[in-house]
Amino acid sequence: MIKFLDNKLFRYLSVFLFLNSSILPVKSSSALAAWAINTNGVLELRTKSNTNLKAYFQKANQISGDRFWVDFPGELKNPRTIKGNGPIKEIRLGKPDKGKTRLVIEFKEETYLKPLTWQMVGLDQNRWRIKLFNSKYSFKKIGEGLVEKKRGNIKANQNLIHKKKNNYGYLKLPEVKRNKFEVVIDPGHGGPDPGAIGIGGIRETDVVLEVSKIVKNLLSEKGVKVRLTRTNDVDLDLPPRVSIANNTDADIFVSIHANASRGKRRDINGLETFYYRGWRGRLLAKRIQKQILRVSPGSPDRGVKQGRFYVIKNTRMPAVLIEIGFLTGRLDARRLEKITHRKRLAYAIAKGILEYLDKVG
Ligand SMILES: [Zn+2]
Repeated sequence: MIKFLDNKLFRYLSVFLFLNSSILPVKSSSALAAWAINTNGVLELRTKSNTNLKAYFQKANQISGDRFWVDFPGELKNPRTIKGNGPIKEIRLGKPDKGKTRLVIEFKEETYLKPLTWQMVGLDQNRWRIKLFNSKYSFKKIGEGLVEKKRGNIKANQNLIHKKKNNYGYLKLPEVKRNKFEVVIDPGHGGPDPGAIGIGGIRETDVVLEVSKIVKNLLSEKGVKVRLTRTNDVDLDLPPRVSIANNTDADIFVSIHANASRGKRRDINGLETFYYRGWRGRLLAKRIQKQILRVSPGSPDRGVKQGRFYVIKNTRMPAVLIEIGFLTGRLDARRLEKITHRKRLAYAIAKGILEYLDKVG
């Protein structure tokens, strides 16, 4: 996040949690030029240049559901209500006071939102975006006008595209030749061996199994054959994990683990990926490490390292062992608890694997 703050293009606006404030009425037309809520839950706004926005959130009460709204200077001509879909009940454009425009997004009752994590990002002088809900909700895009910037500083635009790629690049997985590759994914531990136990009792065996299953699904969708060494919480010794891989024609072996620090130090966080030997293993480790770091901002890069772990030492194909974070670390544990972060990690691992297969396979 610090990286963004250095960039003058980016301005942040935090969402006020229902604080009252008054903006001096401005006698002019609305500063809101266009808006859109995309299928991925991102609200995009185009405004007049250098507009001051205020954003608010209010929890549901007897009268209405959870509401998010943005106030713009300038008076709206036609107040209107637009029917929502998915998690959104409706969108209202109104003028709460003379000389103001208010865009209200009202959510349905059962929607589970996390407004504390919301952040409105200024992309340039007249574009804004904020992620309101998860793409797991099925939602059909709604909007008015064109939010895309049509002209302007080319360099700024290129910069913007670059940043966008960095932020959401993990959502796109590379294509590989279908039905050509086979991958063994090894969720660490299981059964009586829960692996690392972290803050609040979070267990490595559960976290890595869930991540592994998502990786499997993502790779299967791309036409890669995937075998999991275990699919539930069972105890599986190390040799059978290795023989599962060695007895098939697997192209690669990927063992997924989460870390614990000695003394359960909460200040130790970070991600690392091990390989045993060979440039293929090293390349695979590098690709995966790069991607998992990308979805774990602020967590230290502990690097790509050589390691002599049994499962990567004894498998015949290029093999890596990934540590997706410290369950004992304050930063990592809080994330690893969340399904959204586990999904992001799975995407990242799948992406690293597909990049490798595409390059080497
Ligand atoms: Zn482990």
